[in-house]
Amino acid sequence: MPMAEINPIVVSDSAYDELEQYLRDSAFTNCAVVSDQQTHAAAGAEVAARARAAGLAVRDIVLEPGEVVADEVRLIEILRQTNPDDELFIAAGSGTITDMTRFVSFKLGVPFVSCPTAASVDGFTSIGAPLVLKGIKQTLISQPPLAMFAHTHVLCEAPPEMTAAGYGDIIGKITSLADWKIGRLLWNEPYDESIAERTQRAIDACVKHRHEIGTRTAAGVEILMHALVESGLCLVDFGESRPASGAEHHLSHFWEMQLLRDGRPAILHGAKVGVATVMIAQLYERIAAIPREGLAERLAGVHLPSRSSEKDAIHSAYGSYAEQLVQGSEFIDFDQEKVREVRELIVKQWSEIHDIAAAVPKAREVAELLRDADAPTTASDLGLSAELENAAYRYAHYLRNRFTSVKLARFLGIHS
Ligand SMILES: [Zn+2]
Repeated sequence: MPMAEINPIVVSDSAYDELEQYLRDSAFTNCAVVSDQQTHAAAGAEVAARARAAGLAVRDIVLEPGEVVADEVRLIEILRQTNPDDELFIAAGSGTITDMTRFVSFKLGVPFVSCPTAASVDGFTSIGAPLVLKGIKQTLISQPPLAMFAHTHVLCEAPPEMTAAGYGDIIGKITSLADWKIGRLLWNEPYDESIAERTQRAIDACVKHRHEIGTRTAAGVEILMHALVESGLCLVDFGESRPASGAEHHLSHFWEMQLLRDGRPAILHGAKVGVATVMIAQLYERIAAIPREGLAERLAGVHLPSRSSEKDAIHSAYGSYAEQLVQGSEFIDFDQEKVREVRELIVKQWSEIHDIAAAVPKAREVAELLRDADAPTTASDLGLSAELENAAYRYAHYLRNRFTSVKLARFLGIHS
């Protein structure tokens, strides 16, 4: 497994001193600092001043006012302000600014440094750039930053809902990990125990300090940022997002796509993930309650939808994106042989499956963990209708070929 070499990773009140020293010691002679109106004021201006103090020629690329979505318009806005002699980009912003800078710098063949302004997502130390292209969210593999300098005070001063979203993204790993274990048992998905343990430790640290995260003390926010960094590194080390993304992320992506389609404003990634984690925890409660006795009969009695009805469902839920999903799906071409195989595996592995499901905190407990850190817990908290909530259960799993709790629930005949 390739280890991410992001060096240094600094989360402290002296982060910008270290950034200045880092640039002074480097061979870079010029750079561009990318930010938006808010993050320029919060950090970008200071970061640029530090880069100048270190002797670099610095250009500010500050996005025009308005909602910042990582789409073609904003990418071009950044791209047209780049210069052929740019040697380094510095992203001073949250996830969106970082992902666009990651992508643009990667395509220009130059490195970037990340200066996060909020502990809002686990993507800072990652390689993927989630972008919205032609209205469809897709994650393009780009590059990790050379180094990361997160200033604690800046993180603490970020809008509270962004910190709550970062915490929601970490709470989501509870069900991502459970789903990963299910995928390993039933779909032979690659699994790495040490990566799972690292992710679990990141969750445990945040749960333990949730009240400090909720009140955004320096200690709490630093613990959260370290957990997000670790989660990002885990997926770089593993080579894909499996350790950090299960059914709860699919639900979140589904909502995001529906909001885009309807032209509604975006909702923070981690806020959606947290709410979806409560929903998936509830699914695990129902899975854990299924008795071993009569399991084979139960499975045999569940009628799985035919290929054509699956295709219809995908088309009704995804519109123009549907064909892409149908083409890429391993799950709608299930023949009877494959269905039998999975059913047999479920029976054979039931005690392990039961233990995985029973180890997931109950939905009410997950909601409490979120509430303790002031994060939203229900779809209606996010302004999402009951219809969208149910649709996510039904259709979100088509987004990825992974075998998650939602796919298992279909085999078990559990309906939302
Ligand atoms: Zn996430």
